[in-house]
Amino acid sequence: MQTLKLAVIGRDVTKSLSPEIHAFIAKHTGKKITYDKLSVPETRFEDTVEKFFEEYDGFNVTIPYKLSIIPHLEKVEGDAKAFGAVNTVRARGRVGYNTDGLGFSLMLKNAGVQVCGKRALVLGAGGAGRSAAKKLSEEGAEVYIYNRSSDKAKAVAGEFDGVTALEKLENIEYYLIVNATGVGMHETEGISPVDNGLLKLCTVAADLIYEPKKSKFLELAEQCGKQTINGEAMLFYQAYFAQKIFFGESADAAQAKELFAKYREEKF
Ligand code: NAP
Repeated sequence: MQTLKLAVIGRDVTKSLSPEIHAFIAKHTGKKITYDKLSVPETRFEDTVEKFFEEYDGFNVTIPYKLSIIPHLEKVEGDAKAFGAVNTVRARGRVGYNTDGLGFSLMLKNAGVQVCGKRALVLGAGGAGRSAAKKLSEEGAEVYIYNRSSDKAKAVAGEFDGVTALEKLENIEYYLIVNATGVGMHETEGISPVDNGLLKLCTVAADLIYEPKKSKFLELAEQCGKQTINGEAMLFYQAYFAQKIFFGESADAAQAKELFAKYREEKF
């Protein structure tokens, strides 16, 4: 059986969970892979990028190279085109994909969250907020997006149908609130981007942060008795979709769900 040589490339991927998740998926789907972590400083990226295409069958790309990889590709497919960002590269043919949005949608679906015809608020209009807003609007939600600097939220609203930018946040009812700001992890651990005045009016609170497992945002939502979802499932599913692309196989949402359940069981 062919062994695929894979990697994740980012500024600092020393703590990345991708090798562990990809190894788990490969093991349970009867595939053989190697998966390296390649931390590359921004000053070295342009000099080393060619080596990744020569040495690997495929690679994942993370902060801050999701945009800078694009000029080195021959083609971008699917969501990567609309997002203008790539997280998965197939070296043969130099094709870029983005599986973050697919991971986000499957995370909500498997948590029983149905957004069609409902109001959803996305906090943060960076790469993750854009993917979330696009997927929610594709699924028929009435989407609102709020970003600290309002220009970014306006740009997302201008690009995707069914998305409205908010200048300021008011305590009104949303079915779903998504935290895509990154506030609550690293140096902002223990801080929530919104308070319970807003959270008590929602039904579901989803945080794209996967470490810590329970961010302050989710802790507040839980205290208000709301359904909470953390970003771990999204992380797992985006890796699942990426691995299917590396092997040139079609993805199966039921298989992804089953594998994630097994992964959590083994991990905890
Ligand atoms: P990013 O590009 O840095 O975007 C974050 C955005 O949030 C920025 O536009 C920032 O605004 C805005 N922001 C920061 N603080 C805010 C606040 N208090 N209120 C409103 N907006 C605020 O980061 P990203 O790549 O999109 O990632 C965002 C989060 O998603 C991170 O926690 C990341 O780990 C997570 N993520 C998870 C997965 C997964 O698989 N689970 C995948 C991708 C990302 P400014 O423009 O003003 O700075």
